[in-house]
Amino acid sequence: MTTETGLKRVLVMTLGFIFTVATSVGISIAVIGRPQPLPTISKVAAAAVAPSAIGETKLITLHQLEQSLGPAPLDVVFDVDDTVLFTSAAFQWGTRKYGKEIVSAGVSVREEDLKTEEDRQKYREFWTKLNNGLDEYSVPKWIAYELIKLHKSRGDRIHFVTKRIFTGEEQLTALLKEHFGLEEIEPVIFTNRKAKVDSFKKVRATISYGDSDGDIRDSITAGARPIRVMRARTSVNVEPVHNGDFGEEVLMNSEF
Ligand SMILES: [Mg+2]
Repeated sequence: MTTETGLKRVLVMTLGFIFTVATSVGISIAVIGRPQPLPTISKVAAAAVAPSAIGETKLITLHQLEQSLGPAPLDVVFDVDDTVLFTSAAFQWGTRKYGKEIVSAGVSVREEDLKTEEDRQKYREFWTKLNNGLDEYSVPKWIAYELIKLHKSRGDRIHFVTKRIFTGEEQLTALLKEHFGLEEIEPVIFTNRKAKVDSFKKVRATISYGDSDGDIRDSITAGARPIRVMRARTSVNVEPVHNGDFGEEVLMNSEF
């Protein structure tokens, strides 16, 4: 090999190396700079449903739900807050007026947990106001209209069970009757922060709709088919939910 040939080869290799590096850097810059494709709607929806269990969540449409129902009449039970009513306005007002240690949506504060009589008085005052007036500011959810319309059309029996505190009087039953055109329903069952299992058994619930993990857990324990109604992301109830993680069906478009 002559010295000239050797120099040429070294020059070619050097240029090749520079080209390779420049190309790689160029491609990297291009990749970084290139707008990434937006996630599809279905991916966004799936992420909203259950970030930890994408692909395993059993999503169900209203139509599929209707097709899956057994012969009527069934006993169907609904949770209230964030399932049939968007009640965040009332809870937000309560938290601001009485303090989050007394009123906090989704946190199971019990009267006996409060230290002073003054706090216990405030607690009772809030729950009395909630069940007898503040719900005037609660907004019925669209999905609740659809579900109740479906079950009414089949002649199913509709029940409501809530973990709210009962203080001796309530207008909630009358409000639900009016909103959803329900003529004959039993008074709403208040469990006073306790589990709903016994209430679900008492009404012989076949299907149970709820937004919280507790609703789903209690439905499974009581032998009812749980259907998850999604809690709106604007709810002031920040207790975590794990939609679909119990193997329950998650109703599509049920946030609002
Ligand atoms: Mg609820």
